[in-house]
Amino acid sequence: MAKKYVYFFGAGAAEGNMKMKNLLGGKGANLAEMAGIGLPVPPGFTVSTEVCTLFYKNRRRIPGAVRAEVEKNLRRLEKAVGQGLGDPKNPLLVSIRSGARASMPGMMDTILNLGLNEKTVAALIAKTGNARFAYDSYRRFVQMYGDVVLGLKPVHKDEIDPFEAIIERKKHERGVRNDLDLTAEDLKDLVTRFKAAIKEKTGQDFPEDPMKQLWGAVGAVFGSWMNDRAIAYRKMYDIPESWGTAVNVQLMVFGNMGNDSGTGVAFTRDAATGENVFYGEYLMNAQGEDVVAGIRTPRPIVDLKRDDAKAYAELERIRHTLERHYRDMMDIEFTIQQGQLYMLQCRVGKRTAFAAIKIAVDMVGEKLIGEREALARIEPDQLNQLLRPIFDQAEKQTAVKAGRLLAKGLNAGPGAATGRIVFNSVDAEAWAKRGEKVILTRIETSPEDIKGMNAAEGILTARGGMTSHAALVARQMGKVCVAGCGELLIDYGRHDMTVKGRTLKEGDWLSIDGSTGEVIEGKIDTRPSEVLRVLIEKTLAPAKAPVYQTFAKVMAWADKFRTLKIRTNADQPDQSRNAVAFGAEGIGLCRTEHMFFGEGKIGPMREMILADTLDERRAALAKLLPLQRKDFAGIFEVMDGRPVTIRTIDPPLHEFLPHEEKGQREIAVEMGIPYEKVKERVESLHEFNPMLGFRGCRLGIIYPEITEMQARAIFEAAADTKKKGIGVEPEVMIPLVGHVKELADQEKLVRATAAAVMKEKGVTFKYLVGTMIEIPRGAVTADEIATVAEFFSFGTNDLTQTTLGVSRDDAARFLVPYVEKEIYAKDPFEVLDRDGVGQLMRMAVERGRKTRPGIKLGICGEHGGEPSSVEFCHQIGLNYVSCSPFRVPIARLAAARAALLNAPAKAVRAAKPKRAAARKPARKAKKAARRR
Ligand code: ADP
Ligand code: MG
Ligand code: MG
Repeated sequence: MAKKYVYFFGAGAAEGNMKMKNLLGGKGANLAEMAGIGLPVPPGFTVSTEVCTLFYKNRRRIPGAVRAEVEKNLRRLEKAVGQGLGDPKNPLLVSIRSGARASMPGMMDTILNLGLNEKTVAALIAKTGNARFAYDSYRRFVQMYGDVVLGLKPVHKDEIDPFEAIIERKKHERGVRNDLDLTAEDLKDLVTRFKAAIKEKTGQDFPEDPMKQLWGAVGAVFGSWMNDRAIAYRKMYDIPESWGTAVNVQLMVFGNMGNDSGTGVAFTRDAATGENVFYGEYLMNAQGEDVVAGIRTPRPIVDLKRDDAKAYAELERIRHTLERHYRDMMDIEFTIQQGQLYMLQCRVGKRTAFAAIKIAVDMVGEKLIGEREALARIEPDQLNQLLRPIFDQAEKQTAVKAGRLLAKGLNAGPGAATGRIVFNSVDAEAWAKRGEKVILTRIETSPEDIKGMNAAEGILTARGGMTSHAALVARQMGKVCVAGCGELLIDYGRHDMTVKGRTLKEGDWLSIDGSTGEVIEGKIDTRPSEVLRVLIEKTLAPAKAPVYQTFAKVMAWADKFRTLKIRTNADQPDQSRNAVAFGAEGIGLCRTEHMFFGEGKIGPMREMILADTLDERRAALAKLLPLQRKDFAGIFEVMDGRPVTIRTIDPPLHEFLPHEEKGQREIAVEMGIPYEKVKERVESLHEFNPMLGFRGCRLGIIYPEITEMQARAIFEAAADTKKKGIGVEPEVMIPLVGHVKELADQEKLVRATAAAVMKEKGVTFKYLVGTMIEIPRGAVTADEIATVAEFFSFGTNDLTQTTLGVSRDDAARFLVPYVEKEIYAKDPFEVLDRDGVGQLMRMAVERGRKTRPGIKLGICGEHGGEPSSVEFCHQIGLNYVSCSPFRVPIARLAAARAALLNAPAKAVRAAKPKRAAARKPARKAKKAARRR
């Protein structure tokens, strides 16, 4: 059988379904699905995404076999509806719509009312008796076709669209303000002017032949897959170019036939808050993108009850049908043609993090989905949005009282943003690049603006509704957005805006509240979110914090499914306390060097470094001992029996000395030694490559007294804490070990100190000695190292540097281009390089466990809080990940999702007896983890 390229839907048929997104694109698959479950979908057919690939292979031509199949399906459509394309009596009009696997709102092109020409427009008038409608449709068609297929577009960004310019001129000539005030004659004249402009600017005649129109449009939609906007969007959302778009050819239904017709878009729940309410907008006597284009401000969906009660009731029914069928919040497009409702699109709705979390949790309550499914639907990074600041309410009140409230728009993207005004995306990007916070302020946004929107703190628009481009994209990006703020008079040319008689210029400070829609002049400080106030500040009762409660449920489910433990990287008691509030189960990395910079500590530290003799060094270290002990005791107390991994000194010593003469002179005076001596010491400590120099365990091996002091501080603090009746579990971690003998050297010292302290203090406690695996030799010889180490912690920052041979501090120059060229898919310092660094980790895990089956394994590099890296850590069987305090909730969720996603693999493994040996250590590790 010949390969099938085209799939018919509607009129009682559905050759596709929602599972066929790869082939039919999201739009095509869901149109077929809706037709299949009996919803009113105008019939049509989908040309598959495979044809897009063929199109590009075939030098942007549609292959003959596909053409034949399209024609066959066109005949089928004509027969189903009793109309013919180009038929002078009963003309068929169709839309040509793009639709990729992943939704790319507004990125590619759509053409409506195709099939109109001088003859068929006359037939449409004769048939409907509505000349205004017919010419309205015609001028829209010529406009869209002229733009998309014939390429008549604005040349640069602030230029008005050439077709809109013609419309504006016409309105001016006729003395009307509204599109709806243009008569049939006016619209007819517009068609003539449009065609003339096309001829003049492109040299091409507008095609009269509907078949020619059809092929032109299909080709252009495939062509739009490679337009700049689509390419930029794909890059931002990691959509592969190879997917291609499908093309949908669909019978037109008309929302522009008069006041009994209309068109709208809606979400089955509130996409901003997640509230279970119907949420959408519509316009009567309108077509296509009118609702989202921001030309007229649309009406809230509930008002449709008054305009057309029957259509509204049916829409409500469909809302529930769709939610039950898809078990998710859906985004729908519909049109009412003379009282008859049609569904034109549905897809799973984009939503804010607030909404994503609330909807997932609510749907568990409604028994639409289970807990696992709920977790699968919340991206770990979305939790960030719940932690995002809101305005300081007192400061905001003051601002409002002082009359700084400029206007109120729609609360399209929750959160608070303060920044400086810029009026276009290019500026937004440029300003953000130099570290400015900006509010992108536009009359309306278009898909061209996505990069600028991404760079801005917040987005403010003068036109457009809750489902306008700005609102939709902002919610997806998790940006603060106030949309449709009609009082703003924005002048792109002058780079200013006037509101309430005041003029604000580019660079002026502005604050926008995306939760209330308020636009406030000046800068307003932001303050912590609800979750933070409950968990960290404890200034809000959980019962009064609905967002917190939802968050807590998600966290509880995550904890139920995850097998990885979550620790934190912290070196201060308050950081540790925050991390525990966020759910940290231990400290995975306590960096002792940060402590040396603390109050009163840098002096003795410098004395130690500048010391000439062992005695001098010991004297300086003796001053440091009580200070370090106090730091550790503070942390042990907060951690209350949870394991605490403390790393002995790691950075090169010159980092503790000033590098300029001024600073050097100052410390010389302070310490009563000659300046020359300080200078000399700094020079002698200079290294060509400090990253690979005298640092890590090398310091402790050459100066054992440093390790000794640190171990003593740790163990004395542990002993004192234990005496207070608080549990302690110190884990001493030796950094930068490449050879087992390095570790053995330091371990001996640490154990001797522990024994001495226990004896002196008359208490015993458990402790572990282990190492970081952060240079390749350590990973490769992990089996040997594990003879000494009781735990490994992967230091993936250094391990990435040393494995790739890339210095993180010098990588900016080439790493960004590397990622752009897709040499590395992602920045390897952000997302763990599974194929390189990851393989070394896997090897170290296997070798380490072979020697010591119960060895504790964790990660403490930045990757420990990055969801994809957390998943990898789960896959290779680590016991825990450790990340910064604010990423702990993200890591908890990421770990749960990793466990759920990777669960089947475990089941398969269990079924294969051969792998039983490999399973054993993992089981033991789990047992060890449970013991903690
Ligand atoms: P996008 O993917 O950018 O949303 P669509 O293909 O959905 O583009 O088309 C944009 C709009 O055109 C839709 O919202 C719908 O209102 C209108 N439209 C598309 N096809 C038809 C049709 N067959 N009849 C009436 N309106 C249509
Ligand atoms: Mg659409
Ligand atoms: Mg390191």
